[in-house]
Amino acid sequence: MPGTNWNALLEDILSGEWKDPDTGKRADIDFETIRIEEDLDGQEAALLAPLKMGSRIAVVSDTNTVEAMGRRVAKALRSIATIDEVVLGADIECDEATVARVRELVRHADGVVAVGSGVVSDTCKFATFKDKKAFAVFGTAASMNGYAASTASVSLANGFKLSLPAHAPRGIFLDLKVTAAAPAYLNAAGLGDSLCRPTAQVDWWGSKRIFGSFYSQTPYLLQQVDEPLMMANAAGIAKGDLQAVGHLQRVLTLCGLGNCFTKVSHHGSMGEHQVSHWIDMFAGQDHPGTIHGQQVGAASIIIAKLQQQMLGLEKPPKLRATRIDEAAMLARYGDEIGPMCIEEYRKKALDEAGAKAFNDKMEKLWPELRAELQAMTVPVESMRGALKSAGGPVDGAQLGLSPQVWRNAIKYAREIRNRWSFLDYADDAGLLDDFLDAEGL
Ligand SMILES: [Zn+2]
Repeated sequence: MPGTNWNALLEDILSGEWKDPDTGKRADIDFETIRIEEDLDGQEAALLAPLKMGSRIAVVSDTNTVEAMGRRVAKALRSIATIDEVVLGADIECDEATVARVRELVRHADGVVAVGSGVVSDTCKFATFKDKKAFAVFGTAASMNGYAASTASVSLANGFKLSLPAHAPRGIFLDLKVTAAAPAYLNAAGLGDSLCRPTAQVDWWGSKRIFGSFYSQTPYLLQQVDEPLMMANAAGIAKGDLQAVGHLQRVLTLCGLGNCFTKVSHHGSMGEHQVSHWIDMFAGQDHPGTIHGQQVGAASIIIAKLQQQMLGLEKPPKLRATRIDEAAMLARYGDEIGPMCIEEYRKKALDEAGAKAFNDKMEKLWPELRAELQAMTVPVESMRGALKSAGGPVDGAQLGLSPQVWRNAIKYAREIRNRWSFLDYADDAGLLDDFLDAEGL
């Protein structure tokens, strides 16, 4: 884009020039390079050579991404290494079986270059972490914010989805022409994943102010220039506009880099992410096959509506001690996962004294907190409008969920993770059922 140095902020972070304003510390990162450019065609070998990936490199793509960029990358890298071309099938998942298969397929290689988005990247990231091999990625779509994360989202054999420690890629290469040509629903999912910024910030800052828990402004500072541009250009994402997908890829990458400063994922994963995880874990036969970012987008919109309604109240909603119906939870989640959820839920549950302390504190804090949180919000209609114009599903029905499953996901999401959110506040205050009724769910 004329006049814009896409990579200046990224380069400052990578070189250690950009420091966390709260702590004065540099980012703790393993990457050597992150490049987001309009066109990386022809530069692949020059980009990879300094990363010392070894003399034999496996280039791993799937049925779709091999056409989008995998073949091109493999061909280009033949000038610097012996190449094993690995093409995984269609519709693969990042589960234990696929990770094992990739480890076997790349066993002769010194390093692995993934060419794909969420599933291919996470599978290769986790497989190379296990075998201590060098790893780099050419991203093919702007579908999620995990390229820069050092964790991988892996499904266990029992279906439980976990964010497991892995390692960060040595290089992340995002070619915007390739991104723009990716299936539109994938890039719309990336916008959906990014829509959680305001909802997660409200939940996280609220937790800090009410319970005194850790919070950092840094991840939000990193995204603050690109986020409004991404939102304003959302319609361009559906059309494959380079500038629009560029802002999206930058927001996703910078969001991922936030973890390198904070070591936690709170800035981009609170109540709205719990709703998405609940769908993945418990929708079962009713799961419509939607991907993470699609679910997070729709969840962010309804959570924003709930938060904004509550923040519109002059007086703080009063809550009561958290009621944990263990029998109902075991019936919902079964004997294996049910006890894990009960344990998580208990950690943040408020007893009588905790509820009283909460209410007493809010009596004084509410006017100030309300103003602080309102300043972090984005109007629900702006969020919905942006996601709609990008072509993403904006509610449960558009995700393909029945009203009952969508309602359950929102109502019970709080049970699966010890991370306080406005879902906890609303439910303990007796407001959540009324809110869901009014939504027609
Ligand atoms: Zn996410």
